[in-house]
Amino acid sequence: MAQERPPSVATLAIHADDTHTARTVTDVAPPVHVSTTFHYPRDPSALTPFSDLVAAQAADTSGNPEPLPYIYSRLSAPSSTRLEQILSTLLHGPSTTYSSGLAAFHAVLVRTNPRRISLGNCYHGCHNVVKIFTRLTGLQTLPLDCPAEDLHPGDLIHLETPLNPDGTASSIRAYAEKAHSRGALLCVDSTFAPPPLQDPFALGADFVVHSATKYIGGHSDLLGGVVAARDEHQAASLRWERMYVGSVMGGLEGWLGLRSIRTLELRVLRQSDSATRLARWLAGLRARDPQIAAVVARVSHASLQEGEAWLQEQMPSGFGPVFGLHTVRGEQARVLPSRLRWFHHATSLGGVESSVEWRAMTDEFVARTVVRVSIGLEAWEDLRDDLERGLREVAGMEI
Ligand SMILES: *Cc1c(COP(=O)(O)O)cnc(C)c1O
Repeated sequence: MAQERPPSVATLAIHADDTHTARTVTDVAPPVHVSTTFHYPRDPSALTPFSDLVAAQAADTSGNPEPLPYIYSRLSAPSSTRLEQILSTLLHGPSTTYSSGLAAFHAVLVRTNPRRISLGNCYHGCHNVVKIFTRLTGLQTLPLDCPAEDLHPGDLIHLETPLNPDGTASSIRAYAEKAHSRGALLCVDSTFAPPPLQDPFALGADFVVHSATKYIGGHSDLLGGVVAARDEHQAASLRWERMYVGSVMGGLEGWLGLRSIRTLELRVLRQSDSATRLARWLAGLRARDPQIAAVVARVSHASLQEGEAWLQEQMPSGFGPVFGLHTVRGEQARVLPSRLRWFHHATSLGGVESSVEWRAMTDEFVARTVVRVSIGLEAWEDLRDDLERGLREVAGMEI
């Protein structure tokens, strides 16, 4: 008989919620639930006040508490609960969904309420959430590479890897060791490396956040976020706090998330492979072709990071599907998107369709020479030919 081995992400994304079906209906495809409110049991002896249910859940030490019955959709709802069941399996930690990626990051700050947060050039929206906390609590910001001695127990390091919009990676293990050496916690924004590309918990993370709007949704049609916690105690507190902050994922978004996550591994592995081929091809073309070098100053992507021993351990299945194309002049970055046929010029990323963004359109913190490239599911050779043609057109322009 074949040796027992853990099921793959592909299998779990389709079956990790099989037990959920029995709680509601017998449909194979998840139904759309839009109700905000749910019947109580008809039998009076089966009526348990909500506070008793929450207390029983908090007292549960099995690590796998009985989920709350559906009562009101701000507390919990069928589609998002079912999605959480899958995410908890794929992310290797009990997972809570939110109305957006920033709502998920906000939830980590509400949960941990650090006095100091150490973070780098991460997603611009996260900096603005930190700004709100600074106003409310006096939260201090430290650079990502601050000396470990500047961190104190209860502080938070927020590490985004791979990094938006560059697609470059930094060592989760190194930041986990730095945080834990001072009694601080590590939160990893792993949006750019969804399963099966990266498992931050295996490298020491305490919280893992994703903007589900990107690869978990994967079709540019849902806004959502997720926080995975290292332990069930933290997850229970996150769920409780979400009930009262009110940042729940909508019913239709939960359903769209279920529809999408079935193909997560298939999409992400293909997108990662195509992005790596394209980043390497473009860096090589730039090195040998002066016309391309007149437009492309640099390509950034984890696949181009040389000699990083930790990187293979951190991303054994491939690098993220986003890379940075840095032009020589800002005008070239502004014009390039209009010269491409197979890339939408739009913000956001992670969809089945490839997109580029002249990043200055939405990110106040990046240079005007940055074009973020998000690779979708088109044939990589078509994307390659489109990029080469577009870059040669830009090279021929007097800008
Ligand atoms: C998009 C994004 C976010 C914010 O997510 P929303 O769903 O837009 O709120 C956070 N982090 C990263 C890395 C992102 O790309």
